[in-house]
Amino acid sequence: MEKPLYISTRGGVSPVDFNAAVMMGLADDGGLLIPAEIPDVTSKLSAWRKLSYPELAFEVLHCFIGDAVPSNDLKNLVKRSYSTFSVPEVVPVKAVGTVYICELFHGPTLAFKDIALQFLGNMFEYLLACTKGKLNIIGATSGDTGSAAIHGVRGKAGIDIFIMFPEGRVSPLQERQMTSVPDANVHCIAINGTFDDGQRVLKELFNDMAFKRDYHLGAVNSVNWARVLAQIVYYFWSAFRVTEETGSSAVQVSVPTGNFGDIFAGYMAKRMGAPISRLILATNENDILSRFFNTGEYSLGKVVPTLSPSMDIQVASNFERYLYYRLGQDTVKVRATMDEFAKCKRIVVPGKDGEFAAGRGDTATTIDTIQRYYRQHGYLLDPHTAVGVAVAEQNACEGIPTVCLATAHPAKFAATIEKALEPGLAVHPTLEALKTLPTRKVLLDPLKEVVKGYVAETLAGK
Ligand SMILES: *Cc1c(COP(=O)(O)O)cnc(C)c1O
Repeated sequence: MEKPLYISTRGGVSPVDFNAAVMMGLADDGGLLIPAEIPDVTSKLSAWRKLSYPELAFEVLHCFIGDAVPSNDLKNLVKRSYSTFSVPEVVPVKAVGTVYICELFHGPTLAFKDIALQFLGNMFEYLLACTKGKLNIIGATSGDTGSAAIHGVRGKAGIDIFIMFPEGRVSPLQERQMTSVPDANVHCIAINGTFDDGQRVLKELFNDMAFKRDYHLGAVNSVNWARVLAQIVYYFWSAFRVTEETGSSAVQVSVPTGNFGDIFAGYMAKRMGAPISRLILATNENDILSRFFNTGEYSLGKVVPTLSPSMDIQVASNFERYLYYRLGQDTVKVRATMDEFAKCKRIVVPGKDGEFAAGRGDTATTIDTIQRYYRQHGYLLDPHTAVGVAVAEQNACEGIPTVCLATAHPAKFAATIEKALEPGLAVHPTLEALKTLPTRKVLLDPLKEVVKGYVAETLAGK
């Protein structure tokens, strides 16, 4: 096998291999990196059905990485990435009522982002070791991504991570998931300000070209191709498990959606030949994407806070990848359309994509769904998963089983579970243990020079 190549959705980057695509993150022309070709794996499906999760992950990843990473190294890296999960199947699939729940939350931070970030952390470490390079990851978080990123790179050689979060504005539990990590390469920065202040400082740091270059700054945001790639695996995995159990030839998959990263991985799996009849895109009240798939209009609304905060997103950072395929792989059209969106905050794409259904679940529906699934089936849904289940119910399809991706453990959102049901139901030993661990953080003002000074000083002292 050779090295599969990656191109930009905007056509301004000469093709690069997987390793360069991972280190680039966002494409240098402002677009997103996508595989130049999508592998057709139809002839491999029956062999893939027999594999364990890490074995299947290796096969899927290998299709997109090729010889850029030697097979034995990749196997080893994948094995390590999923050995941190607390159940032997890695991703259990359970029949609950009329749907199948695909539990993606058994990693170290109990959210589905671990599936991608455990792999990305190991991949970064591996690629840096090959080039004797260094990477300083800087991020701003309002909650989940920061802790999954920290757990992905803690203790990894060649990497330091600095995560900013707004002081007093993330839940105590989310803060502890970050600040209790003892590794010397993890640096938590509480910002005296809001999430937007953190985002602004982050942008200013990345715009400081000399600082970015001298300090090897990198990001772990959801546009990194390696994150999408790792997520393709469980679409095959869950479709295999459910078609085996039901005898059906295909499944539909419901995905609680924010930045379109997760469901885009599903779109890739479907194009590769996974037995998936349709993808169901589920949003909360922040419904720019469900409106788009129903009307063709992609127009910016205002972000409203909901019970499923990881989906409180309006501009979906991975949407451009889908747009590339929707616009017939025409990079000139993609660029023009994205420019128009930047200017007018609104675009219209004519026609409908039959590979998707879409809908929204509001706050009342989220609560109702959590209550019904617990009372009727004894199963606790976290609020993000509940949105996906509710929209799956709206789109039930005769003869085709539905897989609902469960993106977080309910104990991460215990306050909502308590509101819907009663106290004490949603617990997890990992989260209980956090309560007594020592924590570390620094408190800084939301000023670029202040944060820059802290980064420089911290790295100089190592
Ligand atoms: C990040 C996240 C989502 C949304 O996933 P996207 O890839 O951004 O669409 C859904 N649920 C939970 C719990 C998340 O952390």
